[in-house]
Amino acid sequence: MSRSVTILGATGSVGRSTLDLVARAADRFEVVALTAHRDVAGLAELARRHRPKLAVIGDAGLLGELRAALAGTGIEAAAGEGAIADAAASGAEWTMAAIVGTAGLKPVMRALEGGRTVALANKEALVSAGALMIQAAAASGATLLPVDSEHNAIFQCFDRARPESVRRIILTASGGPFRDWPIEQMRAATPDQAVAHPNWSMGAKISVDSATLMNKGLELIEAHRLFPVGAEAIEIVVHPQSVIHSLVEYVDGSVLAQLGAPDMRVPIAHTLAWPERMETPCQRLDLVAIGALAFEAPDPVRFPALRLARETLAAGGAKPAILNAANEIAVASFLERRLGFLDIASLVGEVLARFDPPAPTSIDAVLEIDGEARRVAAALTGKIHA
Ligand code: NAD
Ligand code: MG
Repeated sequence: MSRSVTILGATGSVGRSTLDLVARAADRFEVVALTAHRDVAGLAELARRHRPKLAVIGDAGLLGELRAALAGTGIEAAAGEGAIADAAASGAEWTMAAIVGTAGLKPVMRALEGGRTVALANKEALVSAGALMIQAAAASGATLLPVDSEHNAIFQCFDRARPESVRRIILTASGGPFRDWPIEQMRAATPDQAVAHPNWSMGAKISVDSATLMNKGLELIEAHRLFPVGAEAIEIVVHPQSVIHSLVEYVDGSVLAQLGAPDMRVPIAHTLAWPERMETPCQRLDLVAIGALAFEAPDPVRFPALRLARETLAAGGAKPAILNAANEIAVASFLERRLGFLDIASLVGEVLARFDPPAPTSIDAVLEIDGEARRVAAALTGKIHA
C-alpha cells in the first residue's frame, strides 16, 4: 500500500533529500503537494519529475509564472501563504515540514491539526511555539517524528514507555567550520566561510547557525520540547566527525547511541518509513576507516549562543520565540554582510534583554512576538559591535 506524502519546503536541502528517497521507492509513496517560497523554476521542475496533485509557491505574485511553468501537466498550481497552509492540511498521511524559520509555523500547525504523521525538520517552529505544537499534536492524535539528525537519534534510543529511566541526553555538535578558529579570526569571518560546513551540506541559515553554535542552542530547546527530560539533563558535547548523532544515558549507566554517515537521508528515511525501515543509497559506516572518534567540551567564550539558548530555555515564556526571531534577523543581516559574525550572538542577546512580553497562548500571539522581536532586531542591526 502506498503512503501519500506532502513536502513543505520541497526546493530546499531537506525537501530535495526527501524527494530523492521518495523517487527511489516510488511504489511506496504517492506525492500529494509540494511547496516552495519563490523558486518557481525549481518547484516546477520538481513537480514535473514527482507529479504531485498540487504545487504551491509562497509568493502570491508568482502564480501566473507557476501556472505557465506547469502548463499541460494537469498539476494544480496555487500561491500565497494561505495556500501553503492549505497544502499542509491536504490530508496526506505523511507531511515533511522543511520550511526554514517561523514562516513554517502556521503550515506545521495545520499539518498537526490534521492528525496524521508530521516529520519535523523546521526546528524554529518548535522553538518558538513548542508547547502549542505539542498540545495540537496531542489533541488531534498526530504523530510527530523528529527529522533533525540529533533528535532523530534520540528518538531511536529513547525508551518512551519508561522516561523516568533516562538520566541524561547527550546532544552531539560538529563544532562547525570555526571550531578551532581564534576569536579574532572569527570576528572577520565571511558568509562564504560560515556556510562551508565541514560535514553536512545544508541551507544557508542552518549553516550559519552551525557556525555560531546557535543551531545547537535551538536544538537544546528542541530536545526539551520533544523529550520529557529537564534542561539540566541535556548536555552538549562537540564531536567533530558527526558519526554519533546523539546519545541517551539510562539510570543504570547504559548509554545508547545512534550512528551513521552524516547524510540527512538517513534520519529522513527513518521518518519516511516509520515504523518500518527502508533502504537508502547512503554511505555505510566504516568504523575501521574512521579509526577514532573525538569529543570535546564546547567553548563558551567563542560560542556565546549556547549560553543564550540555555538562559532562554530556563526563562521560558516568550523568550524562546524572541531568541529565534532575533537570530533569524541576525543571520539574514550577516548573510547580507550588514553584520559581523560575532555580532550575531550579541544582537540576539541585546534583543532578549530589551523585550519581555508575557508568554504567548496562541499561534497568533507567538507570531506577534516574533514580528516585534524582528523589528527590535532590525532596528539594532548596525548599532551592534561585538
Ligand atoms: P533551505 O534553505 O535549503 O530550504 C528552505 C525551504 O523553505 C525552501 O524550499 C524554501 O523555498 C522554503 N521557504 C523559505 N522561506 C519560506 C517562506 N517564507 N514561506 C514558504 N516557504 C519558505 O533549508 P534546509 O537546510 O532544507 O532547512 C529546512 C529546515 O530544516 C530548517 O528549519 C533547518 O533548521 C532544518 N534542518 C535542516 C537540516 C539540513 O541538513 N539541511 C538538518 C536539520 C534540520
Ligand atoms: Mg541537527
